[in-house]
Order: sequence, then structure tokens, then C-alpha cells
Amino acid sequence: MAEFTMELDDEQKAVRDWIHGFAADVMRPAAAEWDEREEFPWPVVREAAKIGLYSLDFYAKQFFDPTGLGIPVAIEELFWGDAGLGLAITGTGLAAVGVLTNGTEEQIGTWIPQMYGDEHDVRLAAFCSSEPDAGSDVSAMRTRAVHDEAKDEWVIDGTKTWATNGGIADVHVVVAVVEPGLGARGHASFVVPPGTPGLSQGQKFRKHGIRASHTAEVVLDGVRVPGHCLLGGKEKLDERLARAREGATGSGNAAMATFEASRPAVGAQAVGIARAAYETALDYARTRVQFGRPIIDNQGVAFQLADMRTRIDAARLLVWRASWMAATGKPFTAAEGSMSKLFAGETAREVTAQAMQILGGNGYTRDYPVERMHRDAAIYTIFEGTSEIQRLVIARALSGMPIR
Ligand SMILES: Cc1cc2nc3c(=O)[nH]c(=O)nc-3n(C[C@H](O)[C@H](O)[C@H](O)COP(=O)(O)OP(=O)(O)OC[C@H]3O[C@@H](n4cnc5c(N)ncnc54)[C@H](O)[C@@H]3O)c2cc1C
Repeated sequence: MAEFTMELDDEQKAVRDWIHGFAADVMRPAAAEWDEREEFPWPVVREAAKIGLYSLDFYAKQFFDPTGLGIPVAIEELFWGDAGLGLAITGTGLAAVGVLTNGTEEQIGTWIPQMYGDEHDVRLAAFCSSEPDAGSDVSAMRTRAVHDEAKDEWVIDGTKTWATNGGIADVHVVVAVVEPGLGARGHASFVVPPGTPGLSQGQKFRKHGIRASHTAEVVLDGVRVPGHCLLGGKEKLDERLARAREGATGSGNAAMATFEASRPAVGAQAVGIARAAYETALDYARTRVQFGRPIIDNQGVAFQLADMRTRIDAARLLVWRASWMAATGKPFTAAEGSMSKLFAGETAREVTAQAMQILGGNGYTRDYPVERMHRDAAIYTIFEGTSEIQRLVIARALSGMPIR
């Protein structure tokens, strides 16, 4: 089992530097344009696929890095490049993790390659859990999946919202209620294969930030998928439902462990944005002259930069710790995964605001990137569990009490 280390090995450093090059040379020059266009940045994602950066092989290699640092290091660099483009490149990963954690080996082998495609035929995937009335409260989900035993097909009806890549994806992973009355433990995940009739895109959202990432409603109207699209299979589902009916808590804990393991990757995105804004502010403060001296000569500015850098390093440490815990199978007794996402998300929001302040009027314009970074950072206290929900999870883990 890998010991925790902050020292990257030569291969990890090479991957980091390779992604940094892509982020600096391809993503940064394209970032403002795609933010303005608010469209999915196909040319950038295709470019990433061409060099193997948008590929199953690449993510699988990072995902199974025994130190746990492969994913956070890669993601931080991508999001240092740009958050909207970064999400366009990594959004498929959310659906892939859904299959990886819930699917059988056969399902993993069948569906995950179809989510990425290849450099000649780039594919996308979307993970659809949130609904208009079921955001933080997942147990309020209404999308229903009913088993048609005669045909061994599942019929799915409902409306999903906020789905990253929703409607433009080839493969959709949809969470639905299979047994009402059991709350979140009566849910199951399904793969909806490419071109399945009945699945359509609803409203596409016009967002405050991460505007190159596509976010939309997904409408499921009598969608029929074969029995083998139920992730984990029918037998495992029946066993799980039987346990839930008896009041056992096992499946809830499993879902919690999955969240704890995936949240540090979102924290790493926030660290990348915060670092980009901090670096821009540091450069600016060194060169901008007021009152006959660079503004960084004022403690009021220099101390802000000191605080920004301290917070970013602390956030990265929390992210790396949680990623290492996930990779080495350590129990998240204090919800360390949620801690990392909470702290990194709040850090990104605060650091990008401070960066904007340090750039003065320029920081408030679209001629400088911190304005976009500040808008992009705002989502990190909202999606993948709001900051309030992270605090709830941490407080419950610490106290063992059902804090509300
Ligand atoms: C750009 C974007 C991309 C997204 N991508 C996806 C995706 O790919 N797939 C997907 O399934 N979902 C996705 N989401 C959905 C996202 O995860 C939800 O928006 C998030 O979970 C919050 O749900 P909500 O928006 O319904 O807010 P609500 O749950 O309505 O929360 C509103 C406010 O109330 C607070 N609140 C709620 N309950 C409590 C409580 N018990 N205690 C204290 N405060 C509370 C919240 O913290 C928040 O401040 C995305 C969202 C956005 C905006």
C-alpha cells in the first residue's frame, strides 16, 4: 500500500508537465472565446483526444495510480488552464465513475469505452441524477424505472436537470427510483445507450460561469433499456432492496464512500482555478505601479497574496490526503473527501475574488482572465454537493448524530 507522500515521482511529474503544456498552449488561448460562445468546445476536446488526454486509457491510468495523486495532479493542471474547457474535457468522467463504481466487469468493459470513443470519433457521457425537486435532497427523486419482466426491459420516465453534457452525450447514466418508499436506497442506476428513443434534451442552461461546459435538462419519456443496462445487475439490486426493506444501512454507506472518493477530484478543479487566479494577481501586483512603487510593496496587498497562497496549499493538501485515502482504501471516518471539496471550493471563491480586487478595474473586465475565473469558481460551492451539504456530511461523520 502506498505511503502518503507529497513528492511526485518522475512519471507523475512528466504527466503534470505534459498537461500544463496543453493547458498553457491550447486551453488558455481558447478560454475567453468559448466562454463568450457558451457552446460545447468540440475543437478543444478533439485536440485533447488527438494527444490522448481525452481518452479512457489516460483516465484509467491516473485513476488506478496507487498513490491516489494521478487524478488530482492532472485535474489541477487542466483547470489551471480553464475551468469551462476543463469540465468539457472531464465531464464524461463523472458518468464513467458511475459505471465503474456500480457496474459489473462486463458493463464496465462495454460502456466506458463507448463514453470516450477514440481520436477519430470522440464521444461524450453524462451523469443524470439531479431533478428539479431533488437537488441536495436526493431522496425526493421522482424519475421512475419500472421493470417489464416479459421483455426484460426497464422503462424510465422523468425529467433530470443540470446534467453536464446532458442531451449531447452519447451515453447517459441515469439514476431512477425502482422502489418508492425506500428513499435513496430504492434508487438504481441505468445506462441509456446511444440513440435510445424517448431521451431528449430539455432546456440548455445559460450560466454565470463554466460557460464552455454544456449543462441541460434531460427528458426521459418512456425510455426502454434492456435488462443488462441496469448497473450491477438484477440479482444484486434485488438483494440490496431486500436489505433496505429490512432497514439495513449498508447501501447508503456504500454510496457515501463513493462520494467521499470522488469529491477530492472536484476539489482539485477548484485548486486549479484558485492557483491560476493567484498567479495572475501575483504577477500583476509586482508590475502595477501606484504611488511610485509596485502595489505589492504595500502590506495590504502582499498579505492578501500570502493568505491566498497559504489557502491554496492547504486546499491541495486536503485534496491529496483524501485522494490518497481513497486509493489506499482508508475509511473516511471524518468525511475527509467532503472536507477537501468544501475547503477547496470555498478557497476558489475567495481567492478569485481577492485576485479581482488586486487587479483593480482591470480585474473587473473581460480583458483579464480573473473576471472569468471568479465566475467559474462560484460553482464550486454549489455542484457535487453544496458547501452546506458538505458541512452536514462532515458534522454527521464527526458526531455520529443525524444532524439536519
Ligand atoms: C453547472 C452545474 C452542473 C451540474 N452538473 C450535474 C451533473 O452532471 N449531474 C447531476 O446529477 N447534477 C449536476 N448538477 C446539480 C448539482 O449537483 C445541484 O445543483 C446541487 O446538488 C444543489 O442542488 P440544487 O441546485 O437543487 O439546490 P438545493 O438543494 O435546492 O439547495 C438550495 C440551497 O439550500 C441549501 N440547503 C439545502 N438543504 C440544506 C440542508 N439540509 N441544510 C442546509 N442547507 C441546505 C443548499 O446548500 C443551497 O444553498 C449540476 C449543477 C450545476 C449548476
